[in-house]
Amino acid sequence: MTVLVTGGAGYIGSHTVQALAAAGESVVVIDNLSTGFSAFLPGNVPLVIGDAGDDDLVEGVIAKHRVDGIIHFAGSVVVPDSMRDPLAYYRNNTMTTRSLLNVAVKCGVKRFIFSSTAAVYGNPDQVPVPEHAPTRPLSPYGSSKLMTEIMLHDVASAHGMNYVVLRYFNVAGADPQARIGLATVGATHLLKIAVEAATGQRAKIDVFGTDYPTPDGSCIRDFIHVSDLAEAHRAALSYLTAGGRSVTLNCGYGRGTSVLETIEAVRRVARRNFAVQYAPRRPGDIMTMVADTSRIRATLDWAPRYDDLDTIAAHALAWEKKLFQARGGPAQQAESA
Ligand code: UDP
Repeated sequence: MTVLVTGGAGYIGSHTVQALAAAGESVVVIDNLSTGFSAFLPGNVPLVIGDAGDDDLVEGVIAKHRVDGIIHFAGSVVVPDSMRDPLAYYRNNTMTTRSLLNVAVKCGVKRFIFSSTAAVYGNPDQVPVPEHAPTRPLSPYGSSKLMTEIMLHDVASAHGMNYVVLRYFNVAGADPQARIGLATVGATHLLKIAVEAATGQRAKIDVFGTDYPTPDGSCIRDFIHVSDLAEAHRAALSYLTAGGRSVTLNCGYGRGTSVLETIEAVRRVARRNFAVQYAPRRPGDIMTMVADTSRIRATLDWAPRYDDLDTIAAHALAWEKKLFQARGGPAQQAESA
């Protein structure tokens, strides 16, 4: 059995490819390298450069590598961009998956794992959020993922496919050995911004909103270490291979951490007191987003290994230092306490 990983050279995709390869799975990657890096792949994993929505290309890869499972990461992930250009998101996320599913059905691929997001919930009525909570996305990004979930459900029912939809909460951290990590220039994610500040690449970090009705006034998120998330994909593949039925699973730890606590963790592990500025609320932000994780824990043979904020921050920081040095940044500054 070979698993096709679309977007396998990206942040979460590459950690998953690493986890699959370490578990002895046969893997082939399709990635257009728009945000991914070929160097993030283990040397023995073939990379086909192209689009997951290119029917002929995907069909050729499935035939050549005898693919019988697909893990689909490829897509666009920046919420504000999706507000500015919704059609790009419906094309890159929804339409690309429609095309990929069409080829999967044609070629008889029966296992499909899809990268979805907690953004499908919008503002939750209940926290921790269970998978059966209402889905009311607030952005075209969330809508494009929800539309794909619906499409996948219908296609699977009609064609005898089994799927796992993984709804990611806030993914952070990097490979514990700092081989790979988040390398996107201009990333907007909290932990990435914080480690950029800790390595002197930013003068400060803004806290968007300190007047929320939460214990310290800032928003609350459920951070999951990218390597644990990668393992969840490997476990989802094993689950489907063992005959598991289609299921949608939240991917988080079920523990809320505030924005201020997160920044403090980075300051602590970096031993660097970078400036923190309180700023107005960011439009569209959800106040509290924490996963109910009972279903993933009951369904998959998966247990988190890095469920600790300081560990996540330390791994993100180690990777950021390496990246900064590789890009020619001052190593001394990155090291200073
Ligand atoms: N955040 C912040 N400053 C930043 C980046 C993010 O205060 O420079 C806050 C943001 O307002 C939100 C939380 O951190 O409350 C998580 O934001 P992120 O963009 O990392 O992920 P999201 O939960 O929006 O997907």
